Amino acid sequence: MPDTLLVAERPAEDQVAQYDAIVIGAGISGMFMLYRLRELGLITRVFEAGTDIGGTWYWNRYPGARFDSESWTYGYSFSEELLQEWDWKEHFSPQPDTLDYLNLVADKFDLRRDMQFGSTVQAAHWDDAAGQWTVTLESGEQARARFLFTAVGILSAHTLPAIPGRESFRGPAYHPARWPHDPVDFTGKRVGIIGTGATAIQAIPEIAKQAKHLTVFQRRPNWAAPLHNSRIGKEEMTAITTRDDEIYARCRDTPSWFIHKADPRKTLDVAPEEREAFWEKLYAEPGFGIWMGNFRDILLDEKANAAITEFIAGKIRQRVNDPKIADKLIPKDHGFGTRRVPLESGYFEAYNRDNVLLVDLNETPIERITPDGIETSDKEYEFDILVYATGFDGVTGAFDRIDIRGPGGVRLRDVWADGPRTYLGWMPEGFPNLLMVLGPHTARGNIPRAVEHGVECLSGLLEFMQAHNYTRVETRPERVAEWTETVIKASEPLLSSKVDSWQTGVNRNVEGRSVRRVLGYNGNGVHYRRKCEEIANGGYREFAFR
Ligand SMILES: Cc1cc2nc3c(=O)[nH]c(=O)nc-3n(C[C@H](O)[C@H](O)[C@H](O)COP(=O)(O)OP(=O)(O)OC[C@H]3O[C@@H](n4cnc5c(N)ncnc54)[C@H](O)[C@@H]3O)c2cc1C
Repeated sequence: MPDTLLVAERPAEDQVAQYDAIVIGAGISGMFMLYRLRELGLITRVFEAGTDIGGTWYWNRYPGARFDSESWTYGYSFSEELLQEWDWKEHFSPQPDTLDYLNLVADKFDLRRDMQFGSTVQAAHWDDAAGQWTVTLESGEQARARFLFTAVGILSAHTLPAIPGRESFRGPAYHPARWPHDPVDFTGKRVGIIGTGATAIQAIPEIAKQAKHLTVFQRRPNWAAPLHNSRIGKEEMTAITTRDDEIYARCRDTPSWFIHKADPRKTLDVAPEEREAFWEKLYAEPGFGIWMGNFRDILLDEKANAAITEFIAGKIRQRVNDPKIADKLIPKDHGFGTRRVPLESGYFEAYNRDNVLLVDLNETPIERITPDGIETSDKEYEFDILVYATGFDGVTGAFDRIDIRGPGGVRLRDVWADGPRTYLGWMPEGFPNLLMVLGPHTARGNIPRAVEHGVECLSGLLEFMQAHNYTRVETRPERVAEWTETVIKASEPLLSSKVDSWQTGVNRNVEGRSVRRVLGYNGNGVHYRRKCEEIANGGYREFAFR
């Protein structure tokens, strides 16, 4: 029998729904958190803004949407039965299949019965006297719980371009993360897409195949490398399933929870011909090998990075027919791998098509969006459909959109104004009983692996509280200071920390988001996991309980 000491009392006269735990978000994180909370005997409610489960894979239905983690490393590993039941169809699963997978999980474990959809959480306020959180939805509905879990996603707060006239466009305009549930038909249409980040890199080749004409508005090119996706046959899938334990063990043993492991040799110590051959091999292989299985120092050392950057630039020049366009597609302001590398399928070749035009916004900036299309400093382009592939307010964006207030009405948004302050990414400083799945300052990488680890850590903490009759947990300031310092120090040697990206918290479409912040633990994930384990084994002395 689960210990019920954490179950909050429920005053009969109180009209506000009362739970032991509230979870915000029904993506991969929220689904698994609910599963574990149920096991611990906590009466739990999940509030989700969307109309169903799936998070990223519910919202992002744009053409070409798929992940670039190997499918068979991406699924949950907690249930052997589930592992046996599901067959991935492709090595890098497309969005519809991933959503099918998550639906199977939700059905199998009957998760929806504790979930409330179409329920955006607007505010969460801590009531110190009652020792609980009051959550207010956009509808005005309220609910209370002793524990509040955020599972709001690192890439869920989508951002639209800060360009005048956006509302005036007459045709349909879509953000990829708010894509219609019915596929958009681009046949015979003139399409304009703003942005050349990871999403656009997936969508452009697909839209180009259908549209009459596609114009790509690029402010800042991104490095990208081939995905080399392929289908998985029945026999191959059976073979993969028999290796599940080995695969997950391998992920646990790498810094970022992927199967790829960096080569410890120094780039410039390796003979040029051998280096080229190694890079050719990595470039021809599926997945993130070219980024994560490369020489370790390409992400640390300017000269090593310059060498791989030149190699990848050469590939772009080979793949794009027009040297002037190739040159525009080659980033000049950051080296290869210093931003998360989008993996692509025919992205560069899309620019060889007659129906695709690249507009460089450094030469001719956008002045406004008009009823008919987009006006740059040079001319007006007319469109039937616009796509705003302008990304997300990464990591902290979804937190900022909720009015979270701790003791004394202190706002999380203010406490984190210059950067998050957390202990291990599990809890923000000074907010009792607020627990974060995949919070800022955790070690991320292959996300579901990080999610499972995070959920297990938080469940372990709750179990400990149940065993000791504690009802309140808080961070200790000295530990937060120590962890924040560790996180910042771990980022310093990385070339990526000197580059603007969603991972360093920069998004020019969001006010106040032009200064870099450290948003994740970028040290070795293996060390992070060891530290979490030590803390659990040591009886969570780093936290304060009541
Ligand atoms: C296009 C795309 C491709 C990706 N590819 C990969 C990949 O290859 N590998 C990888 O590891 N990761 C990838 N990711 C990251 C991806 O987000 C994670 O893999 C994973 O899906 C995150 O799950 P989550 O539950 O933590 O967050 P999400 O899936 O983002 O779910 C969070 C949920 O919280 C809800 N929510 C947020 N705020 C509120 C609120 N105030 N009230 C109510 N509900 C709220 C949202 O609606 C959302 O449904 C990708 C992300 C995107 C956008």
